[in-house]
Formats: sequence, C-alpha cells, structure tokens
Amino acid sequence: MAQNDLDGLYGDEVIRDHHRNPRNSESLDSPDIVADAVNPFCGDEIHLQFNIDEDDHVSEVGYQGVGCAICRASGSMLSEAIKGQTLEEADEISALFQDMMQGIEPTGEQAQLLGDLTSMVGVLGFPIRIKCALLACTALEDGISDYRRK
Ligand code: ZN
Repeated sequence: MAQNDLDGLYGDEVIRDHHRNPRNSESLDSPDIVADAVNPFCGDEIHLQFNIDEDDHVSEVGYQGVGCAICRASGSMLSEAIKGQTLEEADEISALFQDMMQGIEPTGEQAQLLGDLTSMVGVLGFPIRIKCALLACTALEDGISDYRRK
C-alpha cells in the first residue's frame, strides 16, 4: 500500500471532520440497546448506545470509538445516519453501507439515507481497511438483534 494514497484517504475532509469531531459522542445513561464491536487487527473498538421510543424509532444515540480514523469516522457517520430512523430503517442503512463497501453503488435515494457514509467509498481502494469501516455496522446489527430477542 502506497503511504501517499492512504494519506489521500485520510485527507478526505468529511472523514477527517468526523474523526476529529465525532457526532453523538456522549454516552447514554440507561440505554435500551448497548452494542460493542472490536477489530483486533488495528485495535478498533466501537461502543454504541441507543434509546428506542414507542414507535420503534432510534430517539437517541451515543457513540464512542477508539482506533483508526476510518473506524472512528464511520461510527460517527453511522450514528448520524440512524438517528431518528426506525430500527428497520437502521437495518436497511447498515445493509446499504455494507453493499456500498462491496462496490455496489448506491442510488440517489439510498445515498440520501447513507448521508456522510457515502464518503467512505474511498476506503474501497484499501481492502484491508474495509473491516474498519464496517465495524460500526457489526455493532449496530448485534445490538438490534439482541433488542429484538428481548
Ligand atoms: Zn481500523
């Protein structure tokens, strides 16, 4: 991997902004859902908390990320994308993002749902980092399926 290329990726302004100023970074006191995921390869950790209202909407999100910029930024972007959505929509966003990270280009409408997550498309040039980008999805999906089992 050419270091200059990776610098270019980290130079992406949207990614850098989320990395430096993660959204929804306060942890929730008594969340309905708690979900964590770890990627030992580069020491990434994602911690998510959600509150779910009576209509099944994600009313509040807490997100804390440790590790590389890609992981931290994607967690922040995902937390923004799912806030205010139903759990079903959150699942859909997660699936769309995973498709995108397999090279499937989102439609205009899907890109709207993904929001800033679309800027992760540059990570496709760095296959080893795709796992970092998808760690937040792993946490999200685990959290949602735990919640549904209750
Ligand atoms: Zn990473």
